[in-house]
Parts: sequence; structure tokens; C-alpha cells
Amino acid sequence: MKKRQTLSEYKNGVLEGNRSTLAQAITLVESNRPTDKELAAKLVQEILPQTGNSIRIGITGVPGVGKSTFIESFGTTLVNSGRKVAVLAIDPSSQRGKGSILGDKTRMETLAGDKRAFIRPSPSGTSLGGVSAKTREAMLLCEAAGYDTILIETVGVGQSETAVRGMVDFFLLLMLAGAGDELQGIKKGIMEMADALLINKADGNNLKESKLARQHYLQALHLFPPSENGWYPKVELVSSIEKSGLEEAWDMIQQYENHTKSNGFWKKNRSDQRLKWLDENLQMMLSELILSNKSVQSLLDTHKDGIKSGDISPLWVAQEAIKILTQNYS
Ligand code: GDP
Repeated sequence: MKKRQTLSEYKNGVLEGNRSTLAQAITLVESNRPTDKELAAKLVQEILPQTGNSIRIGITGVPGVGKSTFIESFGTTLVNSGRKVAVLAIDPSSQRGKGSILGDKTRMETLAGDKRAFIRPSPSGTSLGGVSAKTREAMLLCEAAGYDTILIETVGVGQSETAVRGMVDFFLLLMLAGAGDELQGIKKGIMEMADALLINKADGNNLKESKLARQHYLQALHLFPPSENGWYPKVELVSSIEKSGLEEAWDMIQQYENHTKSNGFWKKNRSDQRLKWLDENLQMMLSELILSNKSVQSLLDTHKDGIKSGDISPLWVAQEAIKILTQNYS
């Protein structure tokens, strides 16, 4: 097991923008060891005043739509214009071990080799619907290390979008034109969450169809109720291979930033998200507390079959579990 650093070593290294300390600090916040958890919580508290000065962008879309190619091209455009970009990719296959982490890095080769960018695949193991439970903390550490643009990639399988939406400022949905059904398995709910749709692969023979798809999606979005922030979702074309539409996409995101900063939504959204962060942590810690209690474990074991067969009410068992737990603490 790797040796841990002290709180001030982590803190100073992160604040100095030391990439290897940043990587180790993210490993610390992802750890399930009780001593690591305590240190991680202190570290996040210590660096908190240096966080928040970034734009947080969530990126989703079905596998194959071109998310990693887009992030590679878009991220490179951004670093070339002077931004410091951190990519947190939720790696669906990371439970298989290190191989997939390397795999993910080679997916974004140019960006991974660029000193102005930081790429971190996170395990989706302990997840909030596919999103690493620690993505928020990883994002704050990146901000404290001086990254001003955070890209959070998620796999586009449903629940993970809601979790990512709950931690970013801007939510981008990548789409394809002409993939059979125009909505290609993207649920209406996900479209409703998006601040913009980018139709990727708008190049070569696909360009004409992409323009038609743009019209189609604009009409579809028109049917949704206006969102709370007064922003009308945009639909634009990009080609991550030809690198077209990338600067326009960035302009659009900046327009959004200006719009929501001036009408107060930006600040309100971040405040709401902090409360949600508390809520998620409480829920996670409570269920850990319940499930790690030996008496509760044996209660659950005893009644598992009865619950499965429908003879025992799960409500009753849950209440008994809480009784055991509260007796321990009274
Ligand atoms: P992901 O699964 O969403 O991360 O998709 P990838 O980035 O791995 O891309 C899937 C495939 O689409 C790869 O073969 C890419 O080369 C290709 N691709 C990605 N972006 C574009 C694009 O803008 N134009 C074209 N023609 N192909 C693209």
C-alpha cells in the first residue's frame, strides 16, 4: 500500500499545482479506508477557499457518439487559448483494473500529454448511478490546483446524467445525426436536462444530415417548458475530427456563463448543489453506518429469505434495523 502524505503535504502540493500530489489527493478522497476518509475530509475543508473559480461542464452521450474524441479536440482548443483544463472521466470499465485507465488515457493522447491539462479517469465502482461518489471532491481538488475548466465525462446510460447535472454549471449532450430514430435512445429526460446539444460528426457525407437533425432537435426542444434559468438550449454542429465548431461551442458556453451570472442563477445553482452534496454524503454515510453494524447484518440475514418470498415486510425489517442502530447510540 502506498504511503500517505501529511495533511499539509497534500494541501501545499495541491495548491502549488503539483500534478502528482493532485493525483494522490484524488486517490485519497476515493479511498474507503476510515483513516483516509478522515484525512480526505480535512483536506477538502482546507482547500475549500481556493475552489469554485472554474467553469464546470458535464458531457454526455451514447457510447460511440465521440465523447472522448470531442474532449480531446475541445480540450486542446481550450488549453491553446490559455485555459487550464481538467478532465474527470467516469470510467465504466475501471473495475477491471489498471488496463482500462491506460486505455482511457490513450483515448485522449494529445491532451493527456499536455502539461496544461490533467486527465483523471475515476472508478465508477462506488457510484451514484455510474458516477463516482467522489467526483465532486476530485473536481474541487482540481480547482484548488488551478484548473479553471473542468470537463466531467459520463457514459450516457441514464442515472449518471442526473448525478452529473447536479454538480456542473453547464450540461452538454452530444448527439449524432441520422442514427435511425432521431432520438437514438437518448431519453427525453436527458434532453430536458441539457443546456446544449452538439451534433458531432458533422463532417463529410454526414454534414447535410447533421443540418437537418439540428432543425429537428431545435423543434423538439421548443416543446419543452422553459427552464428556470431563462436560457434556451442551443443546438450546434461540431466535428471533433475536423475540429470545426469547437470555438463556437466555447463561445456558447461563455454566453451561458454571462447570462446565468447576470441573472443570479449561477450562484443559486451552486448553493443548491452544495446542499445536495451534503444530502448525498449523509445518505451514503448513513447507509454505511447501518450496513456495517453486526446486529443489523444478522437481522438482515435472518429475514432475507422471508422478504424474498413475500412473508416478511421490508418496512418492518427496516424499522427493526433502525431500532437496533439507535439503541446503540442512545
Ligand atoms: P465515445 O464512445 O463517445 O467516447 O466515442 P469515441 O470518441 O471513442 O468515438 C467513436 C468513434 O467515432 C471513433 O471511431 C472516432 O474516431 C469517431 N468520431 C468521433 N468524433 C468524430 C467526428 O467528429 N467525425 C467523424 N467522422 N468521426 C468521429
